[in-house]
Amino acid sequence: MSEMVLDKQFFADSLAKMAELAEVNRDYWTKLDSDIGDGDHGINLSIGFRAVNANLQDNLEKAPDISTLLKKSGMLLLSKVGGASGPLYGSFFIKMGKEDTGKETVTFPEFAGMLKNGVEAVQLRGKAELQDKTMIDALLPGIEYLEAHKNDEDAIAVMEETVAIMKQGAESTIPLVAKKGRAMRLGERAVGHKDPGSESSWMLMNIFLEEMKKIE
Ligand code: ADP
Ligand code: MG
Repeated sequence: MSEMVLDKQFFADSLAKMAELAEVNRDYWTKLDSDIGDGDHGINLSIGFRAVNANLQDNLEKAPDISTLLKKSGMLLLSKVGGASGPLYGSFFIKMGKEDTGKETVTFPEFAGMLKNGVEAVQLRGKAELQDKTMIDALLPGIEYLEAHKNDEDAIAVMEETVAIMKQGAESTIPLVAKKGRAMRLGERAVGHKDPGSESSWMLMNIFLEEMKKIE
């Protein structure tokens, strides 16, 4: 088992980097959404993560544990973002902290469990299955791999493969017809376009990997 320890600062740093990512990719994610949606995915995430970032220092100081920090951040995404992705990503971060309350540090297997809970919350809320052309197509296969390998020795390698699988999952949405979300209305016309939420989700999970690399 990996000896990596993830503390509250790791989660705060990750959230700050996610906010940077959302600024940098605002136009890119919006472009993907203008192809098969209403062209606001990048705008939605930048609004949400700006709120997370603006409150981060305060939340970090006030939150007694990792769980509370994630919950407060998730609540901001949920309340500040108008689109479907706000409640979905909001639930993701809120539910990441549901089991590990009271902890100031978590192990890698615990972190893996938190991500699993996050993805389950997205599924519970959005009711999307694999191949519905949503963020679930990226998140679910990655989390299955992570769950099976969370006790491996090399946490970075496991997380690298997890993110790689999520990235492939985003690619896998290109030939699909959407069965959930706005793109559903396009029918066959959605074929040939990548789902915006599948792209933003693997890119956001990649931030956790990047921050893990700074620890070792
Ligand atoms: P909206 O669709 O309300 O404009 P966004 O553009 O911010 O919201 O987000 C769209 C993304 O949300 C989609 O690309 C898809 O990945 C994700 N999404 C939409 N509906 C669902 C759902 N039911 N389950 C999972 N993900 C969904
Ligand atoms: Mg949209």
